[in-house]
Amino acid sequence: MKKYSWFMIVSLSLIPFIGIIGTLIYVYLYGMIWQEPVLMIIGWFLSGMGITFGYHRLFAHKSFKAHPIIQFLAMLCGSAALQNNVIKWCSDHRQHHKKLDTKDDPYSIKEGFFHAHIGWILEDKPEIIRGVTDLKNNSILKFQYKYYWSIAIGLSFILPLLIGFYFARPIGGLLWGGFLRLTLVHHFTFFINSLCHFVGKRPFDFNISARDSWWVAYLTFGEGFHNFHHKFQWDYRNGIRWYDFDPSKWMIKFLSFFKLTRNIQKVSDHKILNAKFISIKNKLNFFIPQTPSKIKNLYLKKVERLQKKANIAYDSWSKFEIDFQELKRKGFNDKFHKKSIYYKRKMLKMEYESIINTFSLLLISLKNYV
Ligand SMILES: [Zn+2]
Ligand SMILES: [Zn+2]
Repeated sequence: MKKYSWFMIVSLSLIPFIGIIGTLIYVYLYGMIWQEPVLMIIGWFLSGMGITFGYHRLFAHKSFKAHPIIQFLAMLCGSAALQNNVIKWCSDHRQHHKKLDTKDDPYSIKEGFFHAHIGWILEDKPEIIRGVTDLKNNSILKFQYKYYWSIAIGLSFILPLLIGFYFARPIGGLLWGGFLRLTLVHHFTFFINSLCHFVGKRPFDFNISARDSWWVAYLTFGEGFHNFHHKFQWDYRNGIRWYDFDPSKWMIKFLSFFKLTRNIQKVSDHKILNAKFISIKNKLNFFIPQTPSKIKNLYLKKVERLQKKANIAYDSWSKFEIDFQELKRKGFNDKFHKKSIYYKRKMLKMEYESIINTFSLLLISLKNYV
């Protein structure tokens, strides 16, 4: 039988209750000034980015390095999301990746949607911190660990109250910039643990619960592409296509132009496409046994043939990549040499992509027989 913490139940019920009902009553009684929703949106953006850019990609996954000023700002913004300190947050999150879908996963979806969303936070359990020795040596994080509650309460409630005072509407500031903003930043972050392990597609790894949901990305500053993230957690991106909504990835890249971020980790295209290929293959292997035996044999042969073709294409591309990286380091002979090498790379990519496309069509046609 799980034990729950009354303090957490009351706090995490009061925040959305006051945030939604309280704000509605306040607007009904005293109206609204435009600065209030603006305060909420700016606060939501800053605290949300503090979690995704700071807590998640910078501290938990080390997908890039940041200047101490950026680290400090990320720590402050993340504290305003009221999701505990970086050390505890990262300890849970690293454990989530390491033990995904097992009983040791702190917010395992296997224990149900409610548990993954918020239930795990409400539980009354002794605080366990593991796997974060690197973070414990960071002086900014040590400072946050020591003064977490003062920083978090100060930024989450006192600051919006003071901003409200400036406009002679302190309660308005507190409701919009404090409670309502926190409700949004809390539940949309929680959706990554619940919804993103529940609905969506699995283009990069079919065998895990994490899924890609483009629309969750819009509400979580880019974190909706969760299947990719679980497959390649050290990549600074979650949405890999240029048009995938991922403000955290854009911010990391943008700051690199000013040398404020560096050592940005990015998985190479051939590895990503290989993961895609394997994921489709696993889907085919899942559906093929459910089809009539005549069709089954036909598909098995097709899969085998495509697998061979894919292996050859992948081998030549990955060998080429090694030489390509070497050439990039040493420098090309001249601009024609550079052009021809890039052209060859493009061709290798296109060849592998076309095999994957044929493979996906095979999967689509197979689904008609299931
Ligand atoms: Zn996850
Ligand atoms: Zn992660």
